[in-house]
Amino acid sequence: MSAVHSTRMLILGSGPAGLSAAIYGARAGLAPIVVQGLQPGGQLTITTDVENYPGFRDVIQGPWLMEEMQAQAEHVGAQMMWDTIVDVDLSERPFKLTGDGGATYVCDTLVIATGAQAKWLGLESEQKLRGQGVSACATCDGFFFRGKKVAVIGGGNTAVEEALYLTNHSHDVTLIHRRDSLRAEKILQDRLFAHPNIDIIWDSEVVEFVGGGDPEALVGLDIRNKHTGAISRVECDGAFVAIGHKPATELFEGQIDLDSDGYIRVQVGTTKTNIPGVFACGDVMDKIYRQAVTAAGTGCMAALDAERFLAAQEFEALAAE
Ligand SMILES: Cc1cc2nc3c(=O)[nH]c(=O)nc-3n(C[C@H](O)[C@H](O)[C@H](O)COP(=O)(O)OP(=O)(O)OC[C@H]3O[C@@H](n4cnc5c(N)ncnc54)[C@H](O)[C@@H]3O)c2cc1C
Repeated sequence: MSAVHSTRMLILGSGPAGLSAAIYGARAGLAPIVVQGLQPGGQLTITTDVENYPGFRDVIQGPWLMEEMQAQAEHVGAQMMWDTIVDVDLSERPFKLTGDGGATYVCDTLVIATGAQAKWLGLESEQKLRGQGVSACATCDGFFFRGKKVAVIGGGNTAVEEALYLTNHSHDVTLIHRRDSLRAEKILQDRLFAHPNIDIIWDSEVVEFVGGGDPEALVGLDIRNKHTGAISRVECDGAFVAIGHKPATELFEGQIDLDSDGYIRVQVGTTKTNIPGVFACGDVMDKIYRQAVTAAGTGCMAALDAERFLAAQEFEALAAE
């Protein structure tokens, strides 16, 4: 017989959004259950230096920060489940969810904090040099390349924004795009083309992230011109892959309102989805900021929104008696 777990607040995801929701939910007396998913601690567990999470004067390590967040959530009463949700029924309350081992979760409110994963080119050398010069987040890692030469790969809004952002740190930014025109909005393109510190290489794709030195770090990119087939090297210390993100929302397709990119839509200024009692926070509903601190902030909002939702329901039930 598979286990059944009932809770007033179920949280999907154990990144900064989910664990912040857990801290606030537990302190509001909701005894939340957190289903951690395949990546307990979320995306920060696959990075090293974090220098922009408030409260720490010195550089901290992503995995350490997430261990502390989990310990804090457990300390105030949240329960962690090492499970992944594979099925969701949001047609009526209480909501019913199923874990991959068959366990059932029954909840009065649901907080979705399943995040969004950066898309990568898929090269072995890219994987090997991630964190050693290869990144998917200029806001997170651009500061580590002060005064160095950097490249951005992509041609949409994110790539152009990343290139422009990187000029705060580097006087030598190269945008590499596989086509002969950009998909980014015109206003962004105008700013990009006008910037004296950004060069663009058109019609080229990265075939190799080149490492060197000891310890090994990125020293350049081998790119292939799509018309001539010629391979050339772009020397750089940092490369930012900016070809988009994929929100983890497949589970909710057809049940929750998603935008055209698959992100969960929330009512402006809240974490409320189109289903009363279901809230979304962190990168799964935010395609603009995508930072640990913004995820934590919206995690707090989701727990407060859920607590108020339950209080209103209880008040209505009492009034109806
Ligand atoms: C390499 C790297 C470096 C970064 N560096 C920084 C930095 O220096 N500073 C900064 O502010 N931000 C940084 N970021 C961005 C930051 O990590 C994210 O913005 C943040 O983690 C988003 O938090 P989140 O809780 O929304 O989602 P995530 O951290 O992505 O967590 C998602 C959670 O959902 C769970 N999950 C997914 N599907 C399911 C399911 N079906 N059932 C149950 N659980 C599920 C996963 O297991 C995971 O625990 C970095 C990101 C990367 C990838």
